[in-house]
Amino acid sequence: MHLAHFPRIFLAHLPTPLERLDRLSRELGGPEIWIKRDDCTGLSTGGNKTRKLEFLMAEAEQQGADTIITQGATQSNHARQTAAFAAKMGMACHLLLEDRTGSNDPNYNGNGNVLLDRLHGATTDKRPGGADMQAEMESLAETLRAEGRKPYVIPGGGSNPTGALGYVNCAFELLGQLNDRGLAVDRIVTATGSAGTQAGLITGLKATSANIPLLGFGVRAPKEKQEANVFALAERTAEKLGCAGVVKREDVVADCDYVGEGYGIPRADTLEAIRMLAELEGILLDPVYSGKGAAGLIDYCRKGKFAKGERVVFLHTGGAAGLFGYDAALTRGH
Ligand SMILES: *Cc1c(COP(=O)(O)O)cnc(C)c1O
Repeated sequence: MHLAHFPRIFLAHLPTPLERLDRLSRELGGPEIWIKRDDCTGLSTGGNKTRKLEFLMAEAEQQGADTIITQGATQSNHARQTAAFAAKMGMACHLLLEDRTGSNDPNYNGNGNVLLDRLHGATTDKRPGGADMQAEMESLAETLRAEGRKPYVIPGGGSNPTGALGYVNCAFELLGQLNDRGLAVDRIVTATGSAGTQAGLITGLKATSANIPLLGFGVRAPKEKQEANVFALAERTAEKLGCAGVVKREDVVADCDYVGEGYGIPRADTLEAIRMLAELEGILLDPVYSGKGAAGLIDYCRKGKFAKGERVVFLHTGGAAGLFGYDAALTRGH
């Protein structure tokens, strides 16, 4: 498996640190918890989309694109990292933002990631919740082509086989760190949304026979749908890499019991997880993804699903810029 065969623009700050969370581990009294800091990828406050964009933007450049189109929720971290990457490459960037939460909070709609999208010079356009965002992007691409532009369309979350290569790479990077430090790990957990992160990781882990189970904590879809999405993308990613069939259906595990009311709506345990990591470890999570992933991790520790003596790595996918769009939820009752 040779990632260097694929075009890539090296922009992320890699490798991201792997750190032990002593105070959180002690507080929970269960497994030894480590964190892989993909919130520190360096681009416009960091996050997991930067690894995917290294491969996606290289493909865009190779195809002669001068304009990038992508989509996400209003407080999309993916949209913000894409806007920053496009700025770095001197490309125009059009973001279609879907109003999934229906919030009319001015900070949700204009602060946090949205503020940064605009600072990076991206054009932002809203679409109502439930819109067919892929079709919206295709129609915008058509309009821009008619104007003589060369648009490159990135799917939501950068989750296609090209983007997932970024997380195949992360699996290799993490394994290297574990091997260099003699750290045997029992499991890896992460938030899972548009599926590229989990699909890339599981492909990399299986292709190297790492023998480390991976658990995704869902943020939107129910378990069956989430696992099917991740598995389908992992299959296509393995095919792209020349190791078709390496991921089995049972390797893809998601727990979607921490979603709550829906995408982008934090629960009490999401907010508790954000506060715990902030107060115990000085680490910022986010209310949409990593906060829900960490809430799952904390609950599993408390319930003894992750036993004492185990070593668990939490992949921190970033998203802290979104905190500034969710200040109302975080300050309520404080
Ligand atoms: C996009 C995102 C995720 C989910 O990753 P997917 O590859 O979409 O599954 C997790 N955390 C943060 C902060 C994100 O922005």
